[in-house]
Amino acid sequence: MKAVLFPGNKQVDVVDRPDPRPGPGEVVIKTRASAICRSDMGLYYGTSNIVGGEAAGKGLVVPGHEPAGEVVEVGSDVTAVRTGDRVAVHLAIGCGQCRYCLEGYDFLCPTWKCLGFDIDGGDADYLVVPARNCLKLPDQITFEVGAVMTDMVGTQHDAQRRLNVSGATTLAIFGLGPMGGAGVLVGKARGARVIAVDLLDSRLELARELGADEVVNSKEEDPVARLRALTDGEGVDIAIDSSGNPAGQNAALDSARKFGSVAFIGESRKTELNPSDQFIRKLLTVIGAWYFPVWEWPEIARFVVDRKVAVEKLITHRFPLGEAPEAFRMFDERLTEKAVFVWD
Ligand SMILES: [Zn+2]
Ligand SMILES: [Zn+2]
Repeated sequence: MKAVLFPGNKQVDVVDRPDPRPGPGEVVIKTRASAICRSDMGLYYGTSNIVGGEAAGKGLVVPGHEPAGEVVEVGSDVTAVRTGDRVAVHLAIGCGQCRYCLEGYDFLCPTWKCLGFDIDGGDADYLVVPARNCLKLPDQITFEVGAVMTDMVGTQHDAQRRLNVSGATTLAIFGLGPMGGAGVLVGKARGARVIAVDLLDSRLELARELGADEVVNSKEEDPVARLRALTDGEGVDIAIDSSGNPAGQNAALDSARKFGSVAFIGESRKTELNPSDQFIRKLLTVIGAWYFPVWEWPEIARFVVDRKVAVEKLITHRFPLGEAPEAFRMFDERLTEKAVFVWD
């Protein structure tokens, strides 16, 4: 089979590897879609990663933590997944025994492995995963939408479920890359009034197409003042930062009203905050949001189908796997938004 490897320093190799076979409890998936994500860039550069640091730069692990495809072989002891099942893949492989794994949060397991970082991922013709990681796709959901639904829609769905985003909510989304775009889609489908904040007009235009009620260009105007003006001076009920940059994170905290809530989704390492003004004296709720527990998948899938969430609008580019060098270069240079490898 063909597979992508990152030796480091932005080199992308498409290599031949033996077709994988399933061990006990595992399945082989013929990949039909595999999405590129900003968190792949650490492997692409061969430098630092949010997860799977040991694998970076060694070029040994196949990337791709947002795949979907068809189950073509099942190992012994597999009962709940069958050949022919259409599935997306939950990225976390945990021990299965600790309190976090037992609650479905395998990505919090002390010994978890991440698909596409620690173990071979979806940027290949086939991949092997535990049957437990298979997320069944309803017939109405295409493979490419299924791939994008895991990390993007799943993370936003989990954050907005935890914060009770509803028709009574004014929701501000900071950072309108694919993750923020998914936030607009999920927020609108939950009935919220959604305000999108970004520095780039092109991204704000996309946010409008995804259903945002208002857009704010934070390079041209102070987003906190504008959000207050749009909410009778109160501030927004809920703000979600998907930018991961300090200005966005601080503006999210500053723009939330008293008793409001803020979710941090955009990955970042260091930000200076002002707890007294920003959350203590507003009785603010601040949560970290990252991916979703495996039990939430049926709810996410039903939500996307029933509410006709237009996830496909997040995908701006599709590539065959053979064009991986070009695909990663364009993604890195931000010439694409969400880009997906697709197989016929
Ligand atoms: Zn991702
Ligand atoms: Zn565990």
